[in-house]
Amino acid sequence: MTDTPAASAADETARRDESLVAAAANESMRQPEVGPVEGAAPLGHPCVAEPEHWWPNPGEDPVASFSGVSVSFGAVPAVRDVSFPIPRGSTVALIGPSGSGKSTLIRCLNRMNDLVPGSRVEGDVRYRGVDLYGPDVDPIEVRARIGLVFQRPNPFPKTIFDNVAFGPRVLGFHGDIHDIVERALRRAALWDEVKDRLDKSALALSGGQQQRLVIARALAIEPDMILMDEPASALDPISTSRIEDLMKELTPDVTIVIVTHNLQQARRVAHFTAFLTSEPGGDGALVGRLVEFGTTDQIFARPADERTEAYVSGRFG
Ligand code: ADP
Ligand code: MG
Repeated sequence: MTDTPAASAADETARRDESLVAAAANESMRQPEVGPVEGAAPLGHPCVAEPEHWWPNPGEDPVASFSGVSVSFGAVPAVRDVSFPIPRGSTVALIGPSGSGKSTLIRCLNRMNDLVPGSRVEGDVRYRGVDLYGPDVDPIEVRARIGLVFQRPNPFPKTIFDNVAFGPRVLGFHGDIHDIVERALRRAALWDEVKDRLDKSALALSGGQQQRLVIARALAIEPDMILMDEPASALDPISTSRIEDLMKELTPDVTIVIVTHNLQQARRVAHFTAFLTSEPGGDGALVGRLVEFGTTDQIFARPADERTEAYVSGRFG
């Protein structure tokens, strides 16, 4: 049987995701875990070992933004000149056909593209007012602070407890690590299912549980933003609806950026929606562009652009 072009494009995406997941895991595993540091520091604050190094206090609105962002891999442009805000406390969905640059864009928000040799990000990507690509910013710290949940759950080959404790330990959190782990697991709606086997391997959990564990791992450092790239597309409907419920509970404390292929899911969970598509650039090659950003209601009920209209009504993509 020969591959259809669509299947090989999906395979290519899966291969790239796998290598990115492996690179991120490898980097994480190389971080020294300093171990729990006893002492009181209130949850709800970034658990920074060197406070205020570059991580400013909350209060900046929007929590993140793209301004004139273009990304290329080697000589090949992937997205061009994208600008939109990530309003604090909201869920923002990135929708659009395959190859329109949704994953590439979301990965700008935690410098995950840096793990792809030859990638280049231009323009301004801001988080809490800080230029994430500025010279003083440590990309490893960014990735440790702004978790990205992939389509395939990627727990570390460690215990459930150590998976969740990982970020706080690496970042030198001052507090009771057991409290932190319990709180994160409760917020991820997983505590009741795992509280009696915290010392067991995370790899023994079901897919849906693993995905909630990965979310708990991202939540453990008390972030104000988390990223999810098609987090439910490999899950069954019950696990999917659990993840959606969870997203609704996390906002507005946590700002969520989600890539989804599922338009109904975007309508259910997102306050704002960005619609991307890929179009021929100057040289004729396809490049991802933002067509429209707005409230989810507006994008689905009153799209300003006919390309958005065609996509949300299912006429293309
Ligand atoms: P989407 O998530 O919307 O399906 P992607 O962000 O994965 O789109 O891809 C956007 C473009 O960037 C595509 O042309 C894709 O082939 C290219 N691209 C994505 N990741 C890589 C990579 N690691 N190396 C080379 N090209 C890539
Ligand atoms: Mg993608």
